[in-house]
Order: sequence, then C-alpha cells, then structure tokens
Amino acid sequence: PYEVLIVGAGPAGASAAIYSARKGLRTGLVADRFGGQVTETVGIENFISVKATEGPKLVANLEAHVRDYEVDVMENQKALKLTKDGLYQVELANGAVLSGKTVLIATGARWREMNVPGEKEYRGRGVAYCPHCDGPLFKGKRVAVIGGGNSGIEAAIDLANIVEHVTVLEFDSKLRADEVLVRKARSMGNIHIITQAQTTEVVGDGNKVTGLVYTDRATGDVHRVELAGIFVQIGLVPNTEWLKGTLELTPRGEIVVDERGQTSLPGVFAAGDVTNSAYKQIIIAMGSGAAASLGAFDYLIRHSEA
Ligand code: FAD
Repeated sequence: PYEVLIVGAGPAGASAAIYSARKGLRTGLVADRFGGQVTETVGIENFISVKATEGPKLVANLEAHVRDYEVDVMENQKALKLTKDGLYQVELANGAVLSGKTVLIATGARWREMNVPGEKEYRGRGVAYCPHCDGPLFKGKRVAVIGGGNSGIEAAIDLANIVEHVTVLEFDSKLRADEVLVRKARSMGNIHIITQAQTTEVVGDGNKVTGLVYTDRATGDVHRVELAGIFVQIGLVPNTEWLKGTLELTPRGEIVVDERGQTSLPGVFAAGDVTNSAYKQIIIAMGSGAAASLGAFDYLIRHSEA
C-alpha cells in the first residue's frame, strides 16, 4: 500500500505529492488529467514570483517537478469510490483498486457553465470564470457578470474598480446576494443590474467576444449588449460526486477540512478547490496541498509502526 495515496493532480495534488515524497513516504498520485483546471487557463499573472505564465507551461513545470521525486504517477484514471477495509481503498474506473494508509483528496472543482452557443468557443477569449485572475485583462472595457448571487455581485464590485462598465444579468426576478453587497453594487456608478434576464448567446467576431444576447423573461424581448468580457458566476462545483456518503461535505458538496487538511475520516485529508477553503486560487491550492501532506505525515508517525 501507499503511505500517502493522492487523488487529483492539479496544483494541490502536485504540491502534496512533492511534500510527501520529500518526507520519504511511499506516494501514489492518481488523476484523471495532470494539471487540472490549470490546463484550461490561458494567462496566469498571480502566481507569485512568476510575473506571467500560461496554463500549459505551469502544468509542464508542475509535472517535471513531481517527476523529479519518487512518486508513482497514474494518469488517465478516474476514482469512483473510497472505502475502508483496514487500509483505505480507492476504486478506479478501470476496475483496479489502490490502497493507502492515508488518502489525500485533491480532485478540485469545475465552474458551472451557461451552456449557450458561443460560450465554449470564446472561453479564454472574452468568456471568463475568475475575476481575480482575468479582471485586469479587461481594464477600461465593458463587461458583463452572469449571476446575481454573492459571487456574482462580489465580482461586479471587484470588476467595477478596474473596467469601464459592468452589466449584471440575473435570471431570477431578484438578486440572491447579501443585502450589503447589493447596496454597495447599486451605489457604484458603473454597475447596471438587470434581473429576469436569460442569457442566450455569446457573440464574437471569430477571434474574441463582442457582445451577448439575452431575453427579458418578463416581456420576451430580445436584447443585445456590446461588451468585451463575460464573467460567468453561476457556481463552482466541487468534484465530490464519488464521495457522497463517505465523509462530511458542506451543503454545496465541498469537503469539510480543518487547518491540517484533516477530513471527518481519520487519515483522509483533502486540499485545494475540492474543500471548503475560502478562496479558490492556484497559490492557495498549492499551500493547502502542502499543509494536508504534512498533516498526513503527522498522522502516520502517530498511527503506524512501520
Ligand atoms: P484542480 O486544478 O481542479 O485539479 C483537480 C485534479 O483532480 C485534476 O488532476 C483532475 O483530473 C483530478 N480529478 C478530479 N476528479 C477526479 C476523480 N474522480 N478521479 C481522479 N482524478 C480526478 N487561479 C489562479 O490562481 N490564477 C489564475 O489566473 C487562474 N485562472 C483560472 C482560469 C480558469 C479558466 C479556471 C477554470 C481556473 C483558474 N484559476 C486560477 C483557478 C485555479 O485553476 C484553481 O484554483 C486550481 O487549479 C485548483 O487546484 P486543485 O488542485 O485544487 O484542483
């Protein structure tokens, strides 16, 4: 068995693997796709100490760093189930079962998409999901935020300080964000909030986004808004479907962890976007991967003889 069996090889899993290997622990790293969300990222300007890089480049560096250590990397493998029979067992889609004295879950999350024409085509070319990451790329331009929940209104307030103008489009007849955020947004001169708006299409010139189309659900009228960027803020979904019923999750499906990454199951740790950590960023995922790995190390020296 592995001493630390890591599921997920995004920034959190890669960082955890390096920390485990450096402690001399037998480390396995199993993942669907090395790099996780970072593979889909175009420009990264907030990975501290690296002024600017690109997703695929950072993933290549991550992988090279991991492969510098004795880590069993198993790619293109999907975990389906976590069970315990003395040791922890992770069942894979190909039928194999891996076992570990500890398991470290770093399966990340995915942004919920609008599923409208143009969204996929213009992803990274105007369609964005992370205001902290991509907001500065739209300096002085007009953008929209899709979604009037807390993350949508926070994004609008954040963006309004950088861009020229923000249009918020909410599907429902009222905003779901906290009142204090809504008041703040309404007090800013360059945020326009539209409710009962169903976004139906992302429009572009073949190269980048130029606008969007929405239907006013009250009247049925179709409108077009000219803009350069669209921030989709309708939810971040943690990849925990395979864990339902095995450990404590928040109502949103995030794994509940303490400051050492310990979950509700002793010896099972978690890190990164899959957890209830406050902010979802590469540098934060790496930090929590390191912490959870050290948490697993502490657990092992207290719980195993060998
Ligand atoms: P992930 O990166 O999501 O990795 C999850 C890993 O788990 C992957 O290897 C995946 O294949 C694997 N996995 C999932 N389910 C299973 C399963 N059942 N079995 C096996 N393996 C599984 N952050 C920044 O700091 N700066 C940016 O500029 C930035 N830009 C972004 C742009 C985009 C388009 C997106 C989507 C995100 C961006 N982020 C950015 C956020 C950042 O990518 C995430 O916070 C970070 O990748 C989280 O790392 P993670 O390791 O927790 O999870």
